Amino acid sequence: MKNWKKNIRQVQPYTPGEQPDRPDIVKLNTNENPYPPSSSVEKALAEMDGSALRLYPDPAASGLVRAIADFYELDPSQVFVGVGSDDVLAMCFLTFFNSQKPVLFPDVTYSFYPVWADLFRIPFETPALDEDFCLRKEDYYRENGGIIFPNPNAPTGIAQPLPQIEEILQHNLDSIVIVDEAYVDFGAPSAIRLLERYENLVVVQTFSKSRSLAGMRIGYAFGSPELIRALNDVKYSFNSYTMNQAAIAAGIACLADALYWRRTLSLITQTREWTKARLSDLGFTVLDSQANFLFVSPPDKNAKDLYEALRERDIYVRYFAGPRTENYLRITIGTPLQMDRLFGALEDWLREGKREGLKKG
Ligand code: PMP
Repeated sequence: MKNWKKNIRQVQPYTPGEQPDRPDIVKLNTNENPYPPSSSVEKALAEMDGSALRLYPDPAASGLVRAIADFYELDPSQVFVGVGSDDVLAMCFLTFFNSQKPVLFPDVTYSFYPVWADLFRIPFETPALDEDFCLRKEDYYRENGGIIFPNPNAPTGIAQPLPQIEEILQHNLDSIVIVDEAYVDFGAPSAIRLLERYENLVVVQTFSKSRSLAGMRIGYAFGSPELIRALNDVKYSFNSYTMNQAAIAAGIACLADALYWRRTLSLITQTREWTKARLSDLGFTVLDSQANFLFVSPPDKNAKDLYEALRERDIYVRYFAGPRTENYLRITIGTPLQMDRLFGALEDWLREGKREGLKKG
């Protein structure tokens, strides 16, 4: 082997969901919002001064930081912004997880966490969720180099009550605890209000899900001014201009239309609740998600077959191989029309399965 080959970094990258570019598909595989962003976003983008694009953007994205701080009634010194929460989370791993002790996160969770840990050579351990896919807080009462978990968790959608999160914080005053709230707006309690009591808490959120702006890549973190300063120091050691001018303008405009945000949230949670009931009626096991997706197991547990059958009908959902997840599919909540198309396909598939079963039996 050539010597230089030995110097190439080998990593096992995260695999994002497919982004097929066909208008007729039902895309329920990446937890995007089925509704467009507020019209105020389009207006802000249309009003952008194109000639200003020759300038670098504000490296601190101060306008967006201020708008987020105002919306959540915090001080701008408590807000960090990045290119989607993936960027913010990667910066958090790099900034806060620098111990020889293992970072802790659940065995079934956002599959990017182990990728960042490997990339940054951070040791980690993954305490198992219980048999109902719930996090056991006691698993986090031990020495560690930091803690991270999503609330609600992904891909299960299961939310933890705030008192449990506070207990984890109380047992970990010497660690940084990151709560990844990518899906919190769909019905889970936010840990934001614990910020004033815990200077070791970081809360990460995104514009990609509840605010319909996955394409703009805007994420943010809340924490004590000391933690936010540390995050910014690392960011400025990496890339000064992470937020482009369009993303800054779109983010500010989006926050200004809270009414639209609440309306679309309510549509999605209503659709989620009847989708849960209808799937249960068809014999599916449905976890009690508080997110904009459901984690479900078909009656005969043949999730991979169903994933492929749906794909043949241009309905995209997400399947995660692995011993604890292989019997499940993660299905994003779409519009009622999209869910009807899903149910049409599911009912056909179940009927075909029964016919096959009768033939064999
Ligand atoms: N956290 C969790 C738990 C997620 O599922 C996702 C979406 N893949 C993200 C963070 C990142 O989302 P984004 O980078 O679009 O903000």
